Amino acid sequence: MRQPFRRELSNLIERGRDRQLRLAVTGLSQAGKTAFLTSLVNQLRHAGVEAQLDLLPAAREGRLLGAQRLNQPDLGVPRFPYDPGMAALRDTPPRWPEPTRGISELRLQLRYRPAQQGWLSPDIAHLTLDLFDYPGEWLLDLPLLQHDFYSWCQAQPLHSGDQRRALFSEWLAEADTLDPTAEADEAQLASLSEAYAEGLRRAKQAGFSNLQPGRFLLPGELDGAPVLQFFPLPQLDMSKEALEALPSNSLYATLAARFRYYQQQVVRPFYRDHFRRFDRQIVLVDVLGALNAGPERFEDLSQALSQLMHSFDYGQRSLLTRLFAPKIDKLAIAATKADHVTPDQHGHVVQLLEALLAEPLKDLRFANVPVKALSLAAIRATEAREVMHNGKRSPALRGTTLDGEDVLVYPGDVPPRLPTHDFWQQQGFDFPSFRPMGAGSDALTHIRMDAAIDWLIGDKLV
Ligand code: GDP
Repeated sequence: MRQPFRRELSNLIERGRDRQLRLAVTGLSQAGKTAFLTSLVNQLRHAGVEAQLDLLPAAREGRLLGAQRLNQPDLGVPRFPYDPGMAALRDTPPRWPEPTRGISELRLQLRYRPAQQGWLSPDIAHLTLDLFDYPGEWLLDLPLLQHDFYSWCQAQPLHSGDQRRALFSEWLAEADTLDPTAEADEAQLASLSEAYAEGLRRAKQAGFSNLQPGRFLLPGELDGAPVLQFFPLPQLDMSKEALEALPSNSLYATLAARFRYYQQQVVRPFYRDHFRRFDRQIVLVDVLGALNAGPERFEDLSQALSQLMHSFDYGQRSLLTRLFAPKIDKLAIAATKADHVTPDQHGHVVQLLEALLAEPLKDLRFANVPVKALSLAAIRATEAREVMHNGKRSPALRGTTLDGEDVLVYPGDVPPRLPTHDFWQQQGFDFPSFRPMGAGSDALTHIRMDAAIDWLIGDKLV
């Protein structure tokens, strides 16, 4: 067969095979998933016209013609609320889109002109892109599958950290006195479970991330269901054998049974029915938000991320591979809201992200999963400026706070590695939340969304 002909044929087959791609977006709540997906859809819809996507070759070369929404195939999954999100951004004054709380989906059909035109290739090709958004909190539950109730109780950081203990104090005061051998009292279980969930919610609000069970925070359709009425026992003074021999109506056996039900009926189905079918994934991390919030929460984010990243551990013997055989073949990890720091700091943001995820990144690269770390702002809320400071030009940011005040700030230097004790002592890092910039009918302004899109789908647009 002639070489060019063979190449064309293989391109054609390739394109035929790859007409569909399932791309998932995740991150802990507030990481910026809703903003990212809203911007992603917006950029692709405006791709042929006014979107700034120079880092995406198909767009730069004018081959990406745009995107159209199609009806999604999974009727049981809510549709991602793109229109309400855009309406909020186009409001006066503009507002951030209302965050999603569970899994949602949106199907796009991209139209593009293949890079190499030949007599066999079509003038216009299509790629069906199924976009999913789901809470990263749900991934915190994967490690829960390798535990039984006893080892799970022992693995929970219930008494560690002053701040954390204070947030759970009401629940701890009662839970610490429970007798695992006593007969279970339904009313007490319900009220203690609610107190535990309340502790988790408070901890979440205070900026903690390492919180299990994940569905207690974002219950979705399970809100109020008995399957969410359990909690870890903080004091287990008996042996595991003695505890497991207790009658089925004992407090211990009742909580253990609910824990098993949660594993089988809540955690597993998400991995089996959704996660296993994703082709590509982006994990969003609000590194700058954690830096802004202080050392205890930064450390907590680090722990939560290392737990969450187990869901992408494709080693032959990993829990995930053994249980679900997932097929994600490309991963991006992105520090979001990069417009919260001046452009000269963006390099450091990526370095800090890489430092924060050093172990999981090493494992992924070892397992030969292509992974890229980057920083981006899905929806820009600030503009970079320069100010004169002590006779020198210095970078600064201009934006409008959520209260409507126009400000010019220098948020601080981002450390290129994990912050040390000295960093927290000496260096302030402080920025306010900004109002998004008005969108009008144009494409949303962003930072490096095109780089993220290129990494995630660029190879399918050749
Ligand atoms: P989710 O909970 O992961 O869906 O997070 P959201 O997308 O709702 O984002 C949480 C908040 O982070 C938003 O309400 C904004 O205040 C802020 N945010 C998200 N993306 C950006 C961004 O690109 N730039 C800035 N400045 N703020 C952002």
